[in-house]
Amino acid sequence: MATPPPTTLPALHASHAGSWLREGVGGTRAVSKGEAVMAAADTPLLILNAPLLATRLGYPDLSGLDLLELYAFIHPARFVVPTPRGLARALDLVEPNGDGDVPRLLQEAANALLQTCEREDWPEREGAWTSLQTLVRMRWPWATLLSGRIARPETAERWLFSRLPEWEESPEAAQPRQVMLDQPQVLERLAHITGSTAEQRPGQRAFSAEAAYAFGPREASGQPRVVLAQAGTGIGKTLGYLAPASLWSDLSGGTVWVSTFTKALQRQLRQESRRAWPDRRPDGTRPVVVRKGRENYLCLLNLEDALQGGFAGRAAILAQLVARWAAYTRDGDMIGGDLPGWLGTLFRQRGVTALTDRRGECVYAGCPHYRKCFIERSARASVGADLVIGNHALVMVNAARGRDVAARPTRIVFDEGHHIFDAADSTFAAALTGAETIELRRWVIGPEKASRGRRRGLAARLADVASYDEAGGKAIAAACAAAEALPSDGWLQRLVEGAPSGPLEELLASVRATIYARDESGGQEAGYGLETEAAGFEGPFVETAQAARAALAELRLPLIRLGVRLEALMEDGPDWLDGPGRARIEGARHSLTWRVDLLGAWEALLDRLGGPADPEFVDWLALDRSEAREYDVGLHRRWLDPMKPFAKVVLEPAHGVVMTSATLRDGDDWERAVVRSGAPHIGVLPHLSTHYSPFDYAKQAEVLIVTDVPRGDIASLSAAYARLIDASRGGVLGLFTAIRRLRIVHGRIADRLARAGLPLYAQHVDPIDTGTLVDIFRDDPAASLLGTDALRDGVDVPGHSLRLVVMEQVPWPRPTILHRARRLAATALKGGASAYDDAIIRARLAQAFGRLIRSRDDHGHFVVLSSAFPSRLLSAFPEGTPIRRLSLDEALQRIIAHASGELDSKPDPARNLP
Ligand code: SF4
Repeated sequence: MATPPPTTLPALHASHAGSWLREGVGGTRAVSKGEAVMAAADTPLLILNAPLLATRLGYPDLSGLDLLELYAFIHPARFVVPTPRGLARALDLVEPNGDGDVPRLLQEAANALLQTCEREDWPEREGAWTSLQTLVRMRWPWATLLSGRIARPETAERWLFSRLPEWEESPEAAQPRQVMLDQPQVLERLAHITGSTAEQRPGQRAFSAEAAYAFGPREASGQPRVVLAQAGTGIGKTLGYLAPASLWSDLSGGTVWVSTFTKALQRQLRQESRRAWPDRRPDGTRPVVVRKGRENYLCLLNLEDALQGGFAGRAAILAQLVARWAAYTRDGDMIGGDLPGWLGTLFRQRGVTALTDRRGECVYAGCPHYRKCFIERSARASVGADLVIGNHALVMVNAARGRDVAARPTRIVFDEGHHIFDAADSTFAAALTGAETIELRRWVIGPEKASRGRRRGLAARLADVASYDEAGGKAIAAACAAAEALPSDGWLQRLVEGAPSGPLEELLASVRATIYARDESGGQEAGYGLETEAAGFEGPFVETAQAARAALAELRLPLIRLGVRLEALMEDGPDWLDGPGRARIEGARHSLTWRVDLLGAWEALLDRLGGPADPEFVDWLALDRSEAREYDVGLHRRWLDPMKPFAKVVLEPAHGVVMTSATLRDGDDWERAVVRSGAPHIGVLPHLSTHYSPFDYAKQAEVLIVTDVPRGDIASLSAAYARLIDASRGGVLGLFTAIRRLRIVHGRIADRLARAGLPLYAQHVDPIDTGTLVDIFRDDPAASLLGTDALRDGVDVPGHSLRLVVMEQVPWPRPTILHRARRLAATALKGGASAYDDAIIRARLAQAFGRLIRSRDDHGHFVVLSSAFPSRLLSAFPEGTPIRRLSLDEALQRIIAHASGELDSKPDPARNLP
């Protein structure tokens, strides 16, 4: 039977405003949700983003010919905003004129994509035919439509794993030369990389000159040169620090690390670094590399397993699409790299994460793909690089337990420096929970159920060691026996039923019972997570904890013995232990050390439960729940001041460190920033520098504090959001402190706004990852986006798409046990505990405000819905920003006037008045 031309396929579109169906070549008509669902159940329809459409129609089983899947097959590793508009743009088609025009676009897009496969110059042709043969067998809906169009290649296509290039072993990096950067040189470099035609920016020049201090020679061991630089938005600090960094790297031959918190800044850095470095050196190597944690990258061995039957059903189709991507990706980064974020949501995110190396099961040189492995490639590339772009967590983990001491960062620029504290807080935390302990069990013993994948335990991974070295073999057997004490599959269910098995499950059951017994938060009914202090335990609880501690020690000891055996093997290895074999043992030793440390931290946590609290730490018990469904339980430990381990592990071995941000200081006060840099812990006095934003905030922005929306009145809150979005005609970023309120507000207003042509997207509501939501928001000036904390920090949307930020209330810190402990510790500092809270709130307000004005041309309003906004928090906003307290109606008038260009933007003389 001949394949029907794609334009005759029916197409369906649904938004909050309604549903539209185009049948064959006929016209498009609006249909009810019921009719849309019937049509979709009847015959495969052309659709865009099935999970989103399913949510809009309230029909979770919806499936069809999803154009995003087709796009991922035809253009792997190519960016597209997954909306009708975005698709039209990516394919060079006429953008749809409203919702009713979308089905027409879907037909044209299907046509365009299918025709691409027939073109000679299709750049991503290699591998498509072979992959399609498998997809036909899997009955992928698009397979039959593609079949007649992709020509069978004349010679057999190479298998993905033989097509990927091998990485080259890089020589050990020499020590950097000691150099002094003089100011004229730094400024000359800055002028060079900004371009001679670039506007003169005195702030940027001053910033650059000050940042250069960190690149001078260290005067005493363990005493790095530390610069804290407060740099207002618009200073141009990225090129400001890249100038001395690139000069130092040129002169010294060393590597500079720039660490960021958000992926948006990593992307920006990758682009801006091109001004200072070429893409490749004459020898073909790259001077600039981006590095992420290993859990971000595709593990080729996992992919091979998935392609060979490890994945079934829809997940197997995902594996095929990921294999297409793997052949074209820039660096194999699956999380935030060039694998579309939406691919995981089309097929369930778990499928994507299962293809990374999250569990540390890498077998290194024992892996057949070792020489092509993306993770190994990225680690090697960074050794000889001039600039490594990393993130805070990676820099800390690398400093704490990096495999190669010589490759640890010594010159580091922490951009988005206000996030270092939180990143250190999570990096140096310990969590003895059900989820963590079962992970460890699987790492030691392997999975319980017969698994089709390659997941294997320690015994299988080190089988050759066990057969060669008797003591090593005994240590592996003892570790496997001891790991039986850890929780196993079904542990949570057993806890709920009161039938825990083994000492660790007994402990978790006691933790859970204690939390329920003590909880007074009122959160039990609301379904939130619960927590209680790790204090005041009776004898039986302490005995259970000690039994669990003993079981952990039973496991730690054979792991230590095994580590010693592996070390001996490395020193005096058998003949069969060749280079790759040694690399594998080295890898195993590295991951053993990490587990031994983990077990030690857990034991220390349990050890102190019966006795006095350790003043360095905050310990508590927590039950993690989502909408009343429990998913983890256990004990947690954080450093009271995580900058202590940070200073020891990251700062002390470093030679030069710059920490910079637009919101490092609290107002004009440096004290908190200095304390939070960690430098005082190693007796270093940081060099402080301040650079004010060149933006004219008096003209560009206005803060409106709306005083007549009653707190806790969800109907008024929803109405206020709807009116604000309508007044500004979209372009609103709405920030919430509670997911529940966000969902209710979205549910009440999304349909109404959509009918007015103002689409409203929301984190925790739309089945779309946060990065893609921001892409969608950026792409459509009429769209608005609601979200929580992650958006307050991660959104970089310059220009017209973001013109109004709304905060539903003052962002008070959540009164958690950890927060209470740190607040108490702050009573000894200037201003006491309330100053501690105020500083947190001002930092959050400043960050949120920072989303609004990203360039000299940006204009916009920042609205806080708060009847009693304390005046002492107003210093969060940049000097000169007009601030008004007013009613919602007055605020709407100002926003409408601004939208129509009539706003009187004179500075408000009433600024800072209560
Ligand atoms: S070397 Fe390790 S991470 Fe890389 S592909 Fe092999 S098993 Fe996966």
